[in-house]
Amino acid sequence: MKVALIGVGQAGGKITERLARFDAEMDFGAVQGALAVNSAEPDLQSLEFVDTQLIGADRVNGHGVGGDNELGTEVMQADVEQVLDAFDGRVTSRAEAIFVVAGLGGGTGSGGAPVLVHHLQQVYDVPVYALGVLPGRNEGALYQANAGRSLKTLLREADATLLIDNDAWHEQGESIEGAFERINERIAKRVGLLFAAGEAVDGVGESSVTSKTSRTRGGAAAASVVDSSEVINTLRAGGVAALGYATEIASEDSGENIRTAMTVSRQALLTGTSLPDATTAEAALLVVAGNPEAIPRKGVEKARSWLEDETGSMQVRGGDFPLDSDRLGALVLLGGAERSDRIRAFMERAKEAKEAQETESTDPAAALTDDRLEDLL
Ligand code: GDP
Repeated sequence: MKVALIGVGQAGGKITERLARFDAEMDFGAVQGALAVNSAEPDLQSLEFVDTQLIGADRVNGHGVGGDNELGTEVMQADVEQVLDAFDGRVTSRAEAIFVVAGLGGGTGSGGAPVLVHHLQQVYDVPVYALGVLPGRNEGALYQANAGRSLKTLLREADATLLIDNDAWHEQGESIEGAFERINERIAKRVGLLFAAGEAVDGVGESSVTSKTSRTRGGAAAASVVDSSEVINTLRAGGVAALGYATEIASEDSGENIRTAMTVSRQALLTGTSLPDATTAEAALLVVAGNPEAIPRKGVEKARSWLEDETGSMQVRGGDFPLDSDRLGALVLLGGAERSDRIRAFMERAKEAKEAQETESTDPAAALTDDRLEDLL
């Protein structure tokens, strides 16, 4: 899937840079262009692989908005035309989707991303998705409240919001700050593979033995390569999306690989997902990646019907991603996954944090503008 990316805020910029770099290093050619937008100038200066755009210079003079996501909203609103101009060159006629990337717990990304999504929706015909990072459980009340407010607006404005929980992809015992680099690397790899999977036909799949024309309905032997419409159709459910990933060494033995395809698919959904506990979904996509000879048709079919049972979805798409690798991997994309326990717990916590802020607030007008979150569920 050919995509254009805009990262907003510090986390948004760093993750966008990682995604652009991974795509370039792997020579996938899925990322058509990438822009990082921030109100903090030093955060932009540390980026190398993306174009940059400073916003809010007249308000905060390049120093950022701190954790004030309402100020983040305001500076994006004031400078959105400049951002759209800077982005325009990034969306070639080939981009099939736009992803706005942000950490939802901070200020610039949290407040700015929903505004930007709204404006992009007015300008472009392609789907506009959000890639949002949820604060980990140990992050403070301000982060939770900011993220609750941001997520609620994103769910309304974006075609779908792919969520990465900061608790999901780091090792036990690592501090969250120390783990950012590793989390960002994992996000780049998994989301980068998803983009590239939909690219397999004229990208990495070119020299493989599988081809688009071998796609069959219910055919036993033929392989089918994922294309971008399958990613877009899976996300058509809207709401919250989640991504899971797991790999294992492939075997010479095809019977063994049937078992491995099942194992990695289970792991991708049950333990490798960006949103722990998200297993109920309206739609899902299972991409099995690996050397085409090692991808077992029977194993893929079994894994797909297991995924149907497990997610309760009647819409489980599937396909291969031919890769030159000694491993078999499963990438599971869930669409319409907002009814997960983690989202419920997060929304509850965000609501409490917001109510605590309201109690503290002496300004009655501020309390009136606060969002109520419970109607999401
Ligand atoms: P902003 O620059 O004002 O938009 O704020 P940040 O991007 O720093 O957003 C803060 C939120 O994003 C917090 O929940 C942080 O835990 C998270 N965050 C900050 N930097 C990173 C990062 O590099 N990677 C990840 N995964 N999360 C980050």
